[in-house]
Amino acid sequence: MKKIVAYKPLPDDVLAYLHKHVEVVQADAAQHDAFVAALRDADGAIGASVKITPAMLDGATKLKALSTISVGFDNFDVPDLTQRGIVLAHTPDVLTESTADTVFSLILATARRVVELADWVKAGQWQGSVGPAQFGVEVQGKTLGIVGLGRIGGAVARRAALGFNMQVLYTNRSPNPQAEHTYGARRVELAELLASADFVCLQVPLTPETQHLIGAAELRAMKKSAILINASRGATVDEAALIEALRNGTIHAAGLDVFETEPLPVDSPLLSLPNVVALPHIGSATHETRHAMALNAAENLVAALDGTLTRNVVNRDVLRK
Ligand code: NAP
Repeated sequence: MKKIVAYKPLPDDVLAYLHKHVEVVQADAAQHDAFVAALRDADGAIGASVKITPAMLDGATKLKALSTISVGFDNFDVPDLTQRGIVLAHTPDVLTESTADTVFSLILATARRVVELADWVKAGQWQGSVGPAQFGVEVQGKTLGIVGLGRIGGAVARRAALGFNMQVLYTNRSPNPQAEHTYGARRVELAELLASADFVCLQVPLTPETQHLIGAAELRAMKKSAILINASRGATVDEAALIEALRNGTIHAAGLDVFETEPLPVDSPLLSLPNVVALPHIGSATHETRHAMALNAAENLVAALDGTLTRNVVNRDVLRK
């Protein structure tokens, strides 16, 4: 029987499914040496939120498949995996809608100051009718700029166009005709998106090209009234520049699910800015979606080890090798 390493706790039924097909060794990635030793003795591995470097795979000569319980795969060196003949599988689609809900929660929470005002009520400060000091800004009818309109961006565009009557602008390297046709989304250059959008929403994968895609110059190019939403990866934004922009009023507010360092350090200035809504990377974190992701990743791993996986493959070149 093939042996796999599970480096994240899995639901009981998903573990039971894996036990039917493979021998499962549970490992704690925080115990670096033991984790690397376990990888060296395995045919496959399943987990999430751990950087897997090429050095960790040296000596893992049996390893044929890695299955990440996420759609993002910035924790892996994909060309290196391909060269080693290791299939990398991920979990697109199953998390699209729950992540789009998180994005929209951030849009509404920042615009209507939901978290700040809920805290204000709990602090006993609600002592009369609210006035302009507590007013927010409208969401409906505004312009949403989506940087990276793929699966999740498309689900955000649907909510925006059909639910909130918003105009949708987007940037992608290639057009998304379906979003243009169905939601009236218009593809523009990043400069036009930044200058026109009331909400700038990042949904690109983290790659060398998208690292610090939004820095000081891009923040200056946004409207003073604009709100930045990031539920992609922390490093797509230059966080130090964002903190400056939020302090100086260069932009109005930010809704953030992801950060350059996670968990967000307790002394981060982001935590003391009233115009920031910070979430603990909960994009896909519902019971239903996290279960679907774990099952999907387990099925991907078993199929990859069987040589029958055809979808959810990040490095298709490996299959052709
Ligand atoms: P996707 O379908 O691949 O969409 C990504 C979009 O970004 C594509 O439309 C792509 O279009 C565009 N893109 C890629 N590189 C670009 C670049 N250099 N410049 C401009 N656009 C670029 O992926 P998805 O399923 O929507 O997921 C997107 C990302 O969301 C994931 O990679 C992950 O990091 C993040 N995510 C976060 C959470 C969370 O918990 N917060 C949950 C799920 C996903 P082109 O290829 O045409 O450029």
